[in-house]
Amino acid sequence: MQLARKIAALFSIPVHNRELMRSQARAFSRQVPLLYFVLVINTAALAITHLGTAPDYLTIWVPLALYAGALFRFMKWWRLRNKTLSYAEIVGMLRGTIRFSFILGIGFTSWALMLYPYGDAYAQSFVPFFMAVTVICIILCLMHMRAAALTITLIVIPAYTLFFGFSGNPVFVAMALNVCLVAGGLIYMLQTNYRDFANLIETQKALVAKQAETQRLVDENLRLANMDSLTDLPNRRSFFTSLARRTDGDAQFGQFAVGVLDLDGFKPVNDLYGHAAGDRILFEVGRRLSGLSTDDVLIARLGGDEFGIIMDGITSQEAIERFGRTVCDLLADPFRLAEGTVQISGTIGFATARGAEDAPAHILERADCALYHAKANTRGQVAVFSQSHEMQMRRNGMIEQALRKADFDSEFSLIFQPIQDIRAGQPSAFEALARWTSPSLGPVSPGEFIPVAERAGLISTFSTRLLRRALREMKTWPENVGLSFNLSAYDIASPDAVERLIGIIEQSGVAPSRIDLEITETAVMRDFDQACAALGRLRALGIMIALDDFGSGYSSLSHVHLLPLDKIKIDRSFITKIETNETSRNVVKSIIGLCRNLGVDCIVEGIETTGQLAAVGEMGAYFVQGYLFAKPLPVEGIESYLATYSANEQAANT
Ligand code: C2E
Ligand code: CA
Ligand code: CA
Repeated sequence: MQLARKIAALFSIPVHNRELMRSQARAFSRQVPLLYFVLVINTAALAITHLGTAPDYLTIWVPLALYAGALFRFMKWWRLRNKTLSYAEIVGMLRGTIRFSFILGIGFTSWALMLYPYGDAYAQSFVPFFMAVTVICIILCLMHMRAAALTITLIVIPAYTLFFGFSGNPVFVAMALNVCLVAGGLIYMLQTNYRDFANLIETQKALVAKQAETQRLVDENLRLANMDSLTDLPNRRSFFTSLARRTDGDAQFGQFAVGVLDLDGFKPVNDLYGHAAGDRILFEVGRRLSGLSTDDVLIARLGGDEFGIIMDGITSQEAIERFGRTVCDLLADPFRLAEGTVQISGTIGFATARGAEDAPAHILERADCALYHAKANTRGQVAVFSQSHEMQMRRNGMIEQALRKADFDSEFSLIFQPIQDIRAGQPSAFEALARWTSPSLGPVSPGEFIPVAERAGLISTFSTRLLRRALREMKTWPENVGLSFNLSAYDIASPDAVERLIGIIEQSGVAPSRIDLEITETAVMRDFDQACAALGRLRALGIMIALDDFGSGYSSLSHVHLLPLDKIKIDRSFITKIETNETSRNVVKSIIGLCRNLGVDCIVEGIETTGQLAAVGEMGAYFVQGYLFAKPLPVEGIESYLATYSANEQAANT
């Protein structure tokens, strides 16, 4: 049974091995011209040698019929030689070849043997020669088509051996045996050759599969390397690669815009609800933004809550702003989490660029600058880098250069603004405010140079030197008058920085209880956990912590009670409008109430008029600061200011 199956396999095509069949067809199609050429020439030679002696139907019509069949098959193969064949076509061609081999074998053998009786001895001996040579040639040409080669061999060789073996002519008998032997050898060769061929195809197939797998892995790796795993958006690397393609002068890109998107209010949510909730928001942001990605718009996550946008084919500033607003609108929709509904927004800074005229760093610097300004003024909005930004950037560049070269001792000074205790009718402390007069730029306000110093990484040196100087100045003040000193986010950004501050305070010999350190809520929100730890450490020494500019930032009230605080300073912007604007009045009232609930002191900043003072006094504020009492005073002015109050006190006592 198994033998029968094996024999059947020898005469059939390998239907289950498509690749082998395809290779067979390809290899054979290359042999087809030679095969038919040999067949036609050999047949013509035999027919011609018998022309006249054998009947015409054998020397003319039968060969012509065989030629017609051969031509038909030849044409079929020829037409398919450069085509990629379908599975069905290949099976059809291979099966057709086996069938035609069968017909050809019978046809040629019968025809040759029928010619044998005609002609002289030479012509007769040409018949076995013709058959032997032709069949060998056919077997060789069908080397890759085992089934067809075996079919032909098994038809021609037995007929040949029997016919000439029993011809009685010893030469023909010897020839028959000889050809039989050679055919046996050829079949053996055919078998090994075919097996090697099949193995080779198998190996090739495995190799191709392996290559495909390798390519798939390479592609997958590339995809992962360029994708942000949390949001499924392109990542930072992908963003910079895309940007570099545009700035490397790739001609297909014309004018384009680069946007930097920063989420507002994300950090507080992250701090309040935890990182898992933060991740879910970022994922949802990614989902919303990915809907805006097109062939012309790439949106990537650059890291944290920052996203990058590249827009091609930019026609106008309006188009950029329109797109930016779409992004902002999408982000303004509430995010529903298990912990509650969260509202955040996004602010975007855009800069336009044109191909190789710009370096990526320069484009991003402009987009960042636009973002920085938008954040400071109009959160949740879009800003496109403009002329005024350009001027601001230049000015900041000059400030940075001058700061780097500055001689601290001669260029920097401190002035002091009293913080007034209304109930005691006396200054309770002085807030130290930095002043800088640059030899090249003249006086530069702290509102301008502090942010530049922060970004240039210079602030810590300034803070420590200013603090040392402020502590030195206050040595001459009465014991009941404290110092309020402004810190930057960077001053509490690491335990080392905090220890440096503590070292300075301890060295000064000033009692820590006389020192307030002011920190803005935006600075705290940068890294809430670290800020809490740093403020806690300072507070443990007896230093008091004041939250500056309260209400101007983006933090939620829910954060305040988590901070180790002693004082809250209400931002001046509310006071300016307190007499005219009811909302401002309500905000101030509720902050004063909040302070009372939390058990922290409240300082109202920016009191300029007696009306404002009366208003906040009615609301229950005890500590105030502002031009109404004094503008920031030079060191020399403090003594006389204090003297006025002690004179008042004495007068009151007498
Ligand atoms: P700030 O801490 O909120 O300081 C109060 C600012 O408001 C001061 O401006 C002060 O001169 C001004 N001011 C006080 N009372 C009134 C008033 O009644 N009306 C008006 N219109 N303004 C008033 P300055 O000195 O220009 O400081 C600006 C900001 O620069 C400060 O805001 C503070 O955030 C920062 N800063 C100043 N000195 C330092 C410093 O030494 N270190 C750090 N890190 N920041 C400082
Ligand atoms: Ca302050
Ligand atoms: Ca303030």
